[in-house]
Amino acid sequence: MVEKLSSNENPFPPLPGVLSAVTDAAADLNRYPDMATSELIAALAELNGVENDQIVVGNGSTAVLETILKALCQEGDEVVHAWRSFEAYPIAVAVTGATSVPVPLTSEGRHDVDAMLAAVTDRTRAILLCTPNNPTGPVLTQAEVERVLAEAPSDVLVLLDEAYVEFVRDPDVVDAASLLPHHSRLVVLRTFSKAYGLAGLRVGYAVGRARLVGGFRAASTPFGVNALAQVAALESLRHRAELLERVEQLVQERGRLVAALRGQGWDIPDAQGNFVWFDVGDRAGVLARAFAEAGVIVRPFAGEGVRVTVGDRDANDIVIDVAGDFIAGA
Ligand SMILES: *Cc1c(COP(=O)(O)O)cnc(C)c1O
Repeated sequence: MVEKLSSNENPFPPLPGVLSAVTDAAADLNRYPDMATSELIAALAELNGVENDQIVVGNGSTAVLETILKALCQEGDEVVHAWRSFEAYPIAVAVTGATSVPVPLTSEGRHDVDAMLAAVTDRTRAILLCTPNNPTGPVLTQAEVERVLAEAPSDVLVLLDEAYVEFVRDPDVVDAASLLPHHSRLVVLRTFSKAYGLAGLRVGYAVGRARLVGGFRAASTPFGVNALAQVAALESLRHRAELLERVEQLVQERGRLVAALRGQGWDIPDAQGNFVWFDVGDRAGVLARAFAEAGVIVRPFAGEGVRVTVGDRDANDIVIDVAGDFIAGA
């Protein structure tokens, strides 16, 4: 059996209630979706303690990010982000004609906030912050994000990508809800792809000031969230407690996995998402092949390292076995 641990997917299948809601909704596929996505937006506003006009939804948070950058940037502009970070960032920036300014992570796989602030120029339109950082795992702290908000020029948008927020257990993690009311240029990105297990349906959203969000909505593709995705996301919010229990199980598995790997001698950075990072440099390809030979598909980044998603218990046991053999033979 092949274990796919390469895309940070949720190993649990959809909840029965979510599946039946989607199946029922499929009977009406001849109809357009709700163009305003009103019910889902109202539910997300309630969840986040904000007004409806502070939420913009899209076809996955990657699409929301693209919409935001397209509304914001033109040729000659710059967008600062950490690197290595989410692969979609440089692509989303390039589509707008703007230039990515990648800033290397620290040796611990954290955002280098000093270097990121130093990389800001009068052409910078946005700073992207990925917490926890994909693929390395550590979060940005409240103090780090407050520093960015205090020191970056006031016309620079600060985009906080919290794709894995439900998996975070680090008490120092940034609390976006506490910052949003005080910072008009802060925008937070969230997704249903990871903790909610709806990667295949594509739903994500952003939260920010109504004036900004209005502009992002105007720049969005009409009917950007399809009818089945709207139903599934809404139904998932109704089953949030049950889904968060699954997240907790994955967090427990993450703890077991990280402890086992560190026990073998691996230097695994703080893992706050549903993935772990092997900082193996130019042995990334070799390590990924060792996993593949054991039936586990992982994500190598040539010359940098290997990202492995936390799977179910059996899959994680294989990861532990392969990693143990690899470090013993290395
Ligand atoms: C997975 C992920 C997303 C979510 O992407 P979707 O388009 O919503 O599936 C966003 N940001 C990061 C850092 C991710 O890893």
